Amino acid sequence: MLKKTVSQLQPYVPETPLPELEKKLGLTSVVRLSANENPFGTSPQVQQALQDWDFSNSRYYPDGDASALRQAVADYVKVAPERLLFGNGLDEVIELVSRTFLENGDEVLELGPTFSEYKLHAQIEDTIVRDVPVQSDGSADLPALAAAITAQTKLIWLCNPNNPTGTAVTCAAIAKFMAQVPQNVLVLIDEAYMDFVDDLATYTALPLLNDYSNLMVLRTFSKAYGLANFRVGYAVMPPKLAPSLQSVRLPYNLGAVAQLAAQTALADQDFLQSTVTRVKKARQQWQAFLQQHDFTFYRSQANFTFFQAPNALKLADYLLQHGFIVRTGLRPDWLRITFGTSEQNTQLQRLILAFYQK
Ligand SMILES: *Cc1c(COP(=O)(O)O)cnc(C)c1O
Repeated sequence: MLKKTVSQLQPYVPETPLPELEKKLGLTSVVRLSANENPFGTSPQVQQALQDWDFSNSRYYPDGDASALRQAVADYVKVAPERLLFGNGLDEVIELVSRTFLENGDEVLELGPTFSEYKLHAQIEDTIVRDVPVQSDGSADLPALAAAITAQTKLIWLCNPNNPTGTAVTCAAIAKFMAQVPQNVLVLIDEAYMDFVDDLATYTALPLLNDYSNLMVLRTFSKAYGLANFRVGYAVMPPKLAPSLQSVRLPYNLGAVAQLAAQTALADQDFLQSTVTRVKKARQQWQAFLQQHDFTFYRSQANFTFFQAPNALKLADYLLQHGFIVRTGLRPDWLRITFGTSEQNTQLQRLILAFYQK
């Protein structure tokens, strides 16, 4: 009865709700550093806007065009509003892109390892996915990615900075790569973590959008803006492709409250900057820690670190017993840890040293 590609899938295992976990572990508080959420919260202006929201609007369908949010994001990224597509989280944009472009016989290229949603949706659409391994420093191997293109290649996913390795490739390197990509192959740059890089102008691919009609840049409000619960992500795309994606999108995929939250969060650039400053400081501090204690790790440009941890599953369990959830299962004996508040980082690093008796 099931479509063949779906019968082979395993359901996504969601994070256990924190209250449930706290009860199970007998702890008063558990800190989740496994999902790259913002440890500094969300702009207080969002809370105010939600309180001021007119509840009598509840019975109306939301603005299906997300006009106000669309205009605000268009101003922010400096493109025409028609070139934006909004999704119920960037997850939905990834699904929409896969649904719109992929059919049986197509091939998808991605980095290995990278964000798992690209492969999931490519598999549902019955296409073949090929992983191009990252280099020994964790960064994307763009020449290898270009060399892997075949006549069947339809989409190329490039997560930058890459989840889980945390490393980033420069816009100049992407420009060089794009020059080798045939026009009928669509390149998707997932910039979910772009807010955190050391120098935005060096890394974002946004300036390339005017030069290529086969390039899209994807962003989300879930990470740096601390809005994961509201599910808002977007793509900036070539003008020609926008109408097709809009036809595949569900008409009311974004609620009014989500639109309002995202628009308000975007307007509070001070909050964003304070988050980014704190994340950069945590990044330096984690890097120094890992270096000092001889861990193998990649140079992160994101809000998390990916490092080799002997006995990673045991360490993760030890950290959980002490109130910290970290991400396992991305590569054997490697862990991905989201940077927390400076207090949390200190505590976590102490626990890691205690586990290894360093
Ligand atoms: C978190 C994440 C997303 C999904 O973000 P949502 O907007 O919350 O759906 C997309 N891409 C990458 C690389 C991510 O890490």
